[in-house]
Amino acid sequence: MSIALFTLGGTIAMAGVGPGERPVVTRLTGADLVAAVPGLAGLGAPLDVRDALAVPSADLSYRRLIDVVAAAAQAVTDGATGVVVTQGTDTLEETAFLADLIWPHAAPLVFTGAMRNPTLAGADGPANLLAAARVAASPDARDLGVLVAVNDQIHAARWVRKTHSTSTATFASPNAGPLGHLVEGRVRLLTRPPRRPALPPVDPARLDATRVALHTVTLDDDGWQLDGLAERRHGLVVAGFGVGHVPSALAPVLSALAEGIPVVLTSRTGAGAVLRHTYGAVGSETDLQRRGLLNGGLLDPYKALVLLRLLLAAGADRDAIAEAFARHG
Ligand code: ASP
Repeated sequence: MSIALFTLGGTIAMAGVGPGERPVVTRLTGADLVAAVPGLAGLGAPLDVRDALAVPSADLSYRRLIDVVAAAAQAVTDGATGVVVTQGTDTLEETAFLADLIWPHAAPLVFTGAMRNPTLAGADGPANLLAAARVAASPDARDLGVLVAVNDQIHAARWVRKTHSTSTATFASPNAGPLGHLVEGRVRLLTRPPRRPALPPVDPARLDATRVALHTVTLDDDGWQLDGLAERRHGLVVAGFGVGHVPSALAPVLSALAEGIPVVLTSRTGAGAVLRHTYGAVGSETDLQRRGLLNGGLLDPYKALVLLRLLLAAGADRDAIAEAFARHG
């Protein structure tokens, strides 16, 4: 029994160039992170540490993440009980979801990070790393897909969001709540959402070549940024108002785009679903669906973008994309 630990950088691994110096940059290795965690030795599973990347999470990419997931899958094939990935928190809601969509194993793949760097009082990295390792080692966490363990909570990658720029309680799953908690170091799961089959493996070159856009709708939006978008992008996610609404002036712009590329409708609110058949005005959810937009369901705009890019890279047609959003959304 062992746990593979992949470190990618982020605040959890940041320190000043000199002692106590600011600003901080990624400097610490996996060995440094592990050495800072009292209690890891009592886990009963040795950590197999791999320093994969040392970047702020803004510099992660689909390609880099897919390589990490492949290496994590290989670690499981080679006998690891579970896998922990440490990275910056800024993009974690996207990377963990991307990993969740393609993770084929029953073994837990657990993402974590930190909001306070190791030079600050009350740094949360050591506790989060210990929590993630405990989840990765737990038989109860098998078959749950990719998880996020932060602040003694366990979240499903498919629902988790970063909700605050500085709080250590930033991660939340607004539509569902956490799947469980760590209580006195024990993994306590409260619910087990059904696992969805992994998407087929994606060809990295096709993924690189597939480009999708996100447009957040704002008051008085006439959609000028969307001009000629279908020539530049293969798909579009629209983060609409409330339950999936846009100004009436934007509706024809979106229907023209939907004739050429898949356009997925989500809500910019941060929680709740896009509706399907409640409102009837021009620019409402029923109008936009009639114009060919696909309903993103409960997926927030960022997660919808990840799913859309993977589907397009795999060559999915409009029906397959609609079906996938009905399943995941
Ligand atoms: N900017 C940092 C990053 O995402 C923030 C963090 O790690 O929490 O890399």
